Amino acid sequence: MGLYIDIHVHTRRHSQCSHIDPERLIRQAVRAGLDGLVITEHQYQWSTDELAALAAKSHDPHFLLLAGFEYSTIQGDLLVYGLTTMQAAQFQSGMQPEDAVARVHRLGGVCVAAHPTRAGMGFDERILSMPVDAIEVQSVNLKEHEQRLASQLAQNATLRPIAASDAHQLVDVGRYATEFDTPIQSMTDLHDALLRGTFHPARAVRKPGAVLYP
Ligand SMILES: [Zn+2]
Ligand SMILES: [Zn+2]
Repeated sequence: MGLYIDIHVHTRRHSQCSHIDPERLIRQAVRAGLDGLVITEHQYQWSTDELAALAAKSHDPHFLLLAGFEYSTIQGDLLVYGLTTMQAAQFQSGMQPEDAVARVHRLGGVCVAAHPTRAGMGFDERILSMPVDAIEVQSVNLKEHEQRLASQLAQNATLRPIAASDAHQLVDVGRYATEFDTPIQSMTDLHDALLRGTFHPARAVRKPGAVLYP
């Protein structure tokens, strides 16, 4: 069995729309059966110091805690992984999606299209030709029919699917996750796995009490 990681989570520290207290995040993630979390605030990436401070406060020092960020293009949101906090801070809002993807790639990062079929917040048909590295097909912010459409879109665009919670409330952390087939111990590992495609949406509840959807 691979590693279960929720790669799309917001906290109230840097995302105004989130209710999640970061100090309760890791415990909830462990309870949900996750092996790791990637915090992806809107237009902000946690620094390594911030991550280390939070990890140090947790009771589970081996829990994998990483950060990317969610960038809102003028049409559709992108999850970005593998950049520095400084590089993330230089992404001003209002870029075209193609330009944002190109910039992430130029800087050596990877991009996942977030909730691509979410009503009013998705992408148009340009997503079919956009060189994103993967596409989110399940989250608490995609209704059932939007999840079906997103899976269809992933097939049509031959993009690999991921599942993630997009949690803004503690109870949603880990509700969806992606299973990685190779060891992930750092952002470099995650970045490489996303490029290689050694992952798939997690399908099963892992242990009693875990809240991952089947
Ligand atoms: Zn979003
Ligand atoms: Zn989000």
